[in-house]
Amino acid sequence: MRNVIFLSPPGAGKGTMSEYLVKEFNYEHISTGNMLREKAKVDESIAAVMKSGALVSDDVMISLLKETLSNLDKNKPFILDGLPRTLHQAEVLDIILNDLGKRDYVVVYIDVDQNILLDRVIGRRVCPRCHKTYNCRVVEFMPKEENICDLCGQELMTRTDDNEESFTVRYQNYLDSTHPLLEYYKNLNRLKTINNNSNNQNDALLDLVGVISD
Ligand code: ADP
Repeated sequence: MRNVIFLSPPGAGKGTMSEYLVKEFNYEHISTGNMLREKAKVDESIAAVMKSGALVSDDVMISLLKETLSNLDKNKPFILDGLPRTLHQAEVLDIILNDLGKRDYVVVYIDVDQNILLDRVIGRRVCPRCHKTYNCRVVEFMPKEENICDLCGQELMTRTDDNEESFTVRYQNYLDSTHPLLEYYKNLNRLKTINNNSNNQNDALLDLVGVISD
């Protein structure tokens, strides 16, 4: 399987798709959002930026990226979930992957209609311990027991940025800074698009496996 970089608006399903790839194909999942949420527990300034829906600075992201990619398990393909989000991040990422000899990657754009995204974000619940994602508004993604993680029994929580105000900022940032990267990766011949509008993810997962297979 090829290395994967996900590009998508907030709430499109990067996390859920990553969970599937980890389970089925033993991918290493690098989620910048999860890494930052761990940092935010001890760093109030990062917590505040994330709560507002703004982007964390490129400098912080790039040092996090360098540290993470240099410690990758060499025997597993990786998923980069949440980065790049700006052109500068994309350019630095190219250089780092090139230096590491990791040139075999595909950029997967998860396309979802804007009106569906807000609903998914408002209903999202996450496990603070194992990071599994649920949705209390979508039958297919509800936990077996209300508000309890199926995997580790932990009480679920709502992310501080999963509200309408913060979503509006995140979506606008996506349009301004991240969406233009589709053109960038299209020009590099790396871009694949899958659609994830349906709550039944089977078709989207089949499409995903199709675009990441060697
Ligand atoms: P989503 O894609 O649902 O918005 P993530 O968990 O990927 O959520 O990211 C949550 C937040 O973490 C973002 O809104 C932003 O504040 C921060 N973040 C994550 N990745 C990056 C990045 N590459 N650059 C800047 N900020 C980031």
